[in-house]
Amino acid sequence: MKDKFGRSIEYMRISITDRCNLRCRYCMPHGIEKVEHARIISYEDIVRICEAAAGLGITKFKITGGEPLVRIGCSDLVKSIKSIPGTEQVTLTTNGVELAGHMASLVDAGLDAVNISLDTLDAEKYGYITQRGSIDKVMAGIDSALLSGIKTKINCVPQRGFNDDEIKDFAHFAFDRGIDVRFIELMPIGSAIDGKGVSNIEIIDALRSDFPELTPDDSIHGNGPAVYYGIPGLKGSIGLISAMHGVFCESCNRIRLTSQGYIKPCLCYEESIDIKPALAGDITDIRKILEEAITSKPGQHCFNEDPGQTDRRSMSQIGG
Ligand code: SAM
Ligand code: SF4
Repeated sequence: MKDKFGRSIEYMRISITDRCNLRCRYCMPHGIEKVEHARIISYEDIVRICEAAAGLGITKFKITGGEPLVRIGCSDLVKSIKSIPGTEQVTLTTNGVELAGHMASLVDAGLDAVNISLDTLDAEKYGYITQRGSIDKVMAGIDSALLSGIKTKINCVPQRGFNDDEIKDFAHFAFDRGIDVRFIELMPIGSAIDGKGVSNIEIIDALRSDFPELTPDDSIHGNGPAVYYGIPGLKGSIGLISAMHGVFCESCNRIRLTSQGYIKPCLCYEESIDIKPALAGDITDIRKILEEAITSKPGQHCFNEDPGQTDRRSMSQIGG
């Protein structure tokens, strides 16, 4: 379905939990208010929403959170969504800590790709930024993903004074392992409201001195707004998600479902539509809410202009 700006909406990000086994300082440093299980949308209802979404031309689904792998049965959900007629892709975003143990069942379920978040290659700094994670477990998760042959990408959020000295190391990591490493500009969401991100303009400039052969890579790597660069003859690439300085809203193709059953038309604004009442009805009622959300998608995010309107919740609650 097209929104009122003519954008084709074909992608839905689904947060299956607000909870997480890490406490990333820019995301949920103090954890989250516990939400009772009853308020978290069931897998059955998520599948019904996806069926309704598929009827509107949404064919790609991303499972996220919080940390999706802390919710039991994530692979079963992947399998159910994959079996919906019209579904083209089901992918997962994870911190990777528990990935190795889930990889086989996720692949069996038909998972198409995995994004693994990793903000530093240094074990001590990893412990600092996540406040509890073990980098060895994430590396085991990355290895298991690569071994399985599934499409694997690394997400890194550069932050001034924390990991901005590791950009080249991440590029080596990408080309050594033959995977995509994407740098995501820090957005002023939740605990990152006063965070110090690094512009992707600076990132690419820093990389060019070590990797003068870097050239834009126009092949399609995923469903999002990343712009990719590669080195001829080498596997792996560098992706830039310029969420702040490069407004890419005109090609926005997505809506979000939060773990408490709200449809969010745009990451930036607090507005969301409660889809739970429609779940008491049939697929037409669910589809109506999705249509309403798509129709109400704003033209552009407001991160750069109007901090007063920005959603104050963390990415883990919005469903990053
Ligand atoms: N727990 C999973 C993970 O870390 O990949 C999935 C959810 S997490 C919210 C999804 C992504 O959002 C992660 O790559 C994380 O680094 C990123 N993220 C969180 N807060 C952010 C912010 N303020 N700006 C940009 N990216 C952010
Ligand atoms: Fe958890 Fe992901 Fe947020 Fe880190 S970024 S606290 S792993 S939800």
